[in-house]
Amino acid sequence: MIAKPTEFLSDTVPTKYWHRLDDGRVQCDLCPRACKMREGQRGLCFVRTHQGGQVVLTTYGRSSGFCIDPIEKKPLNHFLPGTPVLSFGTTGCNLACRFCQNWDISKSRAMDTLADQAAPETIARYGFYLIASPGIAS
Ligand code: SF4
Repeated sequence: MIAKPTEFLSDTVPTKYWHRLDDGRVQCDLCPRACKMREGQRGLCFVRTHQGGQVVLTTYGRSSGFCIDPIEKKPLNHFLPGTPVLSFGTTGCNLACRFCQNWDISKSRAMDTLADQAAPETIARYGFYLIASPGIAS
């Protein structure tokens, strides 16, 4: 079992790609869903929300889990075969596939599935330090 990053970041962070609509809603411009949200509503991905007149991200710096995988599980073609890679993920997805194998994470409404703290800089340090991983995948 690997140690987990301990650095904690704030619950939400402001995002950049959105704009206000005339009716008081905000529209997220990050993906083609173009979610239009009233205060307190979340987008289809459920990880971006209208809060305080802006679109904020609720998952930054938090992860649904870490593990060390064989690099062959990743979509990399003949990249350092036989070596481990540090994997981590987060909740939320802007797709709605009925056959999703990770639905309990991708469509999670429970923020406690993001129990592991995961500051980007800390993940990079752990990736190099713990397993001398050739890469980090999410
Ligand atoms: S699904 Fe998420 S990222 Fe895509 S437009 Fe909606 S809120 Fe933004």
